[in-house]
Amino acid sequence: MQVIIKTPEEIEKIRVSSLLVGDTLAEVASAIRPGIKTIELDRLAETFIRDNDAEPAFKGYHGFPGSLCISVNSEVVHGIPGNRELKEGDLISIDCGVKKDKFFGDSAYTFTIGEISKEVRKLIDTTRECLAKAIEVAIAGNRIGDISFTVQNLAEKNGFTVVRELVGHGVGKRLHEKPEVPNYGKRGSGMQMKPGMVIAIEPMINLGRRTIRQLNDGWTIVTADNKPAAHFEHTVSVGGPVADVLSSFDKIMKAESKNINLSAEVKEV
Ligand code: MG
Ligand code: MG
Repeated sequence: MQVIIKTPEEIEKIRVSSLLVGDTLAEVASAIRPGIKTIELDRLAETFIRDNDAEPAFKGYHGFPGSLCISVNSEVVHGIPGNRELKEGDLISIDCGVKKDKFFGDSAYTFTIGEISKEVRKLIDTTRECLAKAIEVAIAGNRIGDISFTVQNLAEKNGFTVVRELVGHGVGKRLHEKPEVPNYGKRGSGMQMKPGMVIAIEPMINLGRRTIRQLNDGWTIVTADNKPAAHFEHTVSVGGPVADVLSSFDKIMKAESKNINLSAEVKEV
């Protein structure tokens, strides 16, 4: 399958879907607290997505049972929502996709509950910085390898490792389209980006070694050394001279900080 170049109208539809993903993750952010089960977050997300006249993109995708991928601590991606209760000190990466008006949006964010170690904080901040820096080079005329190199270089400079088996991807009428967007590689290599290309950039960064394995559930990807991993993702339109980020973390961050302040108040009482 070739890379599908989108019209401005199609890009606006992908923006609507991508922003709905952000709204959904903001709803989820408000609900994250110790004791909540990941399945509860999943139900909340599915209801919110359907209430907004959209479909959860992951539900039923190759048989995936959830509307969200919820991956805790050493789980990298593709965690299945279930009866696991979240607790203080957890790192929780949540990936969400929706389909609305025939077009998909895809975005992920890594949350925490309560106190976390300095190194886990640095892992999360670095992963997010990898995404931000990658978006800066996700412009027409540059190559996919420029994104790959940017992510790998920053992650490894900070002492972390990059997951290689899973990659970013084109987004459009399909959740996963060409091109693949690896998080490791050489500057100036790979396909040249053109206006109208829409890609999901999604660094998956490990605190320890880069090796991963899949659990027997057929989905959950975990780090082989059981150390934590972080994941952030934006859907981006490759325009020029700057990329147009179609998804947004704004509402997620607002909900997240409100939630953190609330739990701090509860603690003081
Ligand atoms: Mg995703
Ligand atoms: Mg994706």
